[in-house]
Amino acid sequence: MRPPSILSGEDVRTEEREPPPQERQAAHKWLKEDALGRYSKLRGVGFELYLSKLAEEKIRNHAVKNADTKREVMGLMLGGIYTFNGRRYAMVRDVATTDLEASSVHVRFHRESFEKLFDSLDGTGFDYVIVGWYHSHPGHKCFMSSTDIVTQQTLFDLPLHNALVIDPISREIEVYYLDQGTIRARDFAVYWDEYENPYHGTTVRRRMLRSDPNSMAPAH
Ligand SMILES: [Zn+2]
Repeated sequence: MRPPSILSGEDVRTEEREPPPQERQAAHKWLKEDALGRYSKLRGVGFELYLSKLAEEKIRNHAVKNADTKREVMGLMLGGIYTFNGRRYAMVRDVATTDLEASSVHVRFHRESFEKLFDSLDGTGFDYVIVGWYHSHPGHKCFMSSTDIVTQQTLFDLPLHNALVIDPISREIEVYYLDQGTIRARDFAVYWDEYENPYHGTTVRRRMLRSDPNSMAPAH
C-alpha cells in the first residue's frame, strides 16, 4: 500500500497565509507552569504548530475515554503547511482515527494501523495534508519511545511533521519532531476560528421568538 504522497516530502503544498491572530490563540489546558514562559515568548514571534480547538478536544477525549482501561489510542493529524513572512508553520484542523488494537500494557503501532487509516482517508475526497500523528501514553508520561522514533523516521520525517504524545492520567501533552535525525520538543498553540465560540461549556440563553410580533412581551 502506498502512503499519501504528502508524506514523502517534496510535494508539500505551502500557501502564504497569516497564522491565527493572538486573540484567537491559547495555551492548551494541560500546559505545565514551567512551559508558560516559552509559550508567551513564542506567542509574539509565532509558533511552528497551531492545533485547532476541535482537534485538541478530539485528541483529549479519545485519550481520556480510554484512560481507565489504560489503552493507548492513536490517530492522524490533518491540516496544512503554510508560510508567512518567510516562516513555515503547520496547522492541524482535524484528526482521523480508526479501530485500534491496544493492550493494557503497551501498544506498538504497526504500519498496518497506518495503512488502515490511509485507506479510510483515501475514500474521503477531502483535501487534506497529514501533518503528523498523535498517540497516548496512559500513565507513562510523554516521551518518544524507540518504536515511536522509528514511526516518525519512517512516516513523518519532515521537520514540520509532528508527533503529539498525550498522557491523560498525568495530564500532559507534548509534541515532538525530527530535526535531522534528532527528536526535539515543539511548543504549540491552540487556536479557534472566528466563528467558533471558545467558551465551550457555557450556554448562551436565547429569548424565544413568538410567532405573532404583536404579542411580544417587553423584555425584562
Ligand atoms: Zn509512544
